[in-house]
Amino acid sequence: MRRGIAVSPGVAIGTAYVVHEIFVNPDTKRLEDSEVTAELANYEYARDKATAELRALEIKVESQVGHDEASIFTVHQAILRDAAFTNKIRSWIVDERMTSPAALHRLLGEYTQLFTRTNDEYLKERLNDVRDVIIRLGSFLSDAVNPKTEYLDGPLIVVTDELLPSQAVALGEIDVRGIVTQAGSQTSHAAIIARSRGIPAVSGIKGVLRRVNTGDTIVVDGRDGHVEINPNPESLAAFRKLEREFFDLKDHLAENRDHPAVTADGISLKLQANINLLPDAKAAVAMGASGIGLYRTEYLYLTHPDVPDEDEQYETYRSIVEASPNNNVTIRTLDIGGDKTIAYLGQNHQEANPFMGWRSIRLSFEHPEFFNTQIRAIVRVASEFPDGNVRMMFPMVTTVEEIRKLKSMVRRAYKSLNNRGIKTKELPVGMMLEVPAAAVSIDSMLDLIDFVSIGSNDLVQYLMAADRDNPKVAHLCQPLAPPVLLVLKNVIGACIEANKPVTVCGEMAGTPKAFILLMGMGLRRFSMSPAFIPSIKQLASQISVHDAQQIVQSVMKLKTTSQVKKFMARQIEQIAPNLVLLDTI
Ligand code: PEP
Ligand code: MG
Repeated sequence: MRRGIAVSPGVAIGTAYVVHEIFVNPDTKRLEDSEVTAELANYEYARDKATAELRALEIKVESQVGHDEASIFTVHQAILRDAAFTNKIRSWIVDERMTSPAALHRLLGEYTQLFTRTNDEYLKERLNDVRDVIIRLGSFLSDAVNPKTEYLDGPLIVVTDELLPSQAVALGEIDVRGIVTQAGSQTSHAAIIARSRGIPAVSGIKGVLRRVNTGDTIVVDGRDGHVEINPNPESLAAFRKLEREFFDLKDHLAENRDHPAVTADGISLKLQANINLLPDAKAAVAMGASGIGLYRTEYLYLTHPDVPDEDEQYETYRSIVEASPNNNVTIRTLDIGGDKTIAYLGQNHQEANPFMGWRSIRLSFEHPEFFNTQIRAIVRVASEFPDGNVRMMFPMVTTVEEIRKLKSMVRRAYKSLNNRGIKTKELPVGMMLEVPAAAVSIDSMLDLIDFVSIGSNDLVQYLMAADRDNPKVAHLCQPLAPPVLLVLKNVIGACIEANKPVTVCGEMAGTPKAFILLMGMGLRRFSMSPAFIPSIKQLASQISVHDAQQIVQSVMKLKTTSQVKKFMARQIEQIAPNLVLLDTI
């Protein structure tokens, strides 16, 4: 049994599928002369399989999601065709008698080193793509040596170091029931993807890749973050029962899709969804969201080979709004930097403190040409829908000066579109509250903006000075920490007092314990992974605002995170014993 961080609730059992084991235990074996030809054939086999898989993904993503999102797979195929790439692998196999996984490992090392030294823009931009391609090749190489594709049919638990963007997209292809990662935490990319698909997941299990082999039976318990490898029959039977209950509960909750979100004492709530790409908008409809509280536009940029132009952005945003519940969408401008980088925007060297560095609007301000383009595209879309349906939101706002500057950019966008003969409507403009400085000076900011959305994923990491992606400090990066709750209560109170709509769109909004507390603090708008909406709707119907307020009063007297968690776990057991399976610690 191993313990990590519970990042997506529920219980799942399946066959382990280890994604890139070759990089954990690089192969040191030297080939015999007689093995060289077969090893070259292995490599060609893997290359053909990877090419075919990428082509299939490209076609599928293009038809189901869009051309821009499919372009990542076009780029990956080009890397596979690249002569320098393949010649190096071949020569190491032939001249140095390396196995192909070892050659790939060496190639990855070379590219990574080049990335830090070279001025070659092409290499810099492509490092992430090259890495992704090498890992994909590696997974087929282990198949070539020891065919594992028979496992791909069954219910699978993906075990990996971290989930790469292309792997996340490809998850839709296979029957993945659970995810276990070595790196990552509550708010890492893998966690957000797992939650948006309703897949139980555990992150931050050190050394798990060395202990699990493809084909092992694995239990993922996303309630308390533990993973069992090849459990004994009694334990397996107990988990099968829990897994069945988890499925039944999900099916049952999905039935309340068309019911309104109201508390036990009849107060209406807005339960909205966080989305990244078009299919998520459809999931939001399927799960009964009333709108989109956070559309992360960076995924359009991340899957695009260069800056998407105004028309492309306009088309993408419009199709998202059209597909979204009630055509209601809060579009967030580019939030790049921190854990996500785009080389074509000049993020070519690693910063010492990327989360505190050149990210979000700080980066956008230095690229006024593309920032203005994005603002114009959003204004154009908003002007085509009823007033207030489409809102624009800026991430990482830190100072009043920034808000003034942003607003003047929005005004310029109206003007420039009008000059081109395009009619515009004023759209609501809001800020994400993610930086402690903004929480402290919220009163002087509220006059300038139309709404606030609290990005608790970042707010918590900045308040606690604990990186949201680093499992070593995950015990500090806790949304239920007393200082975090105090700040949230103050900010929500300030917004209510100033009559400004306020939402929480960080991951905590969709977790039962935090939901109750936020509701008790006066919050009525929540935005979360679509998969959480049915359970939160159910929970809301079982608790009154009055009771939630009492709970907040008691919790605000507690001094430690673990006291808050224990107290809230007892509350959930009493208020919603039917939902305990969906709670995380
Ligand atoms: C947040 O910080 O809470 C948030 C919703 O934004 P992101 O997770 O995209 O940083
Ligand atoms: Mg954020």
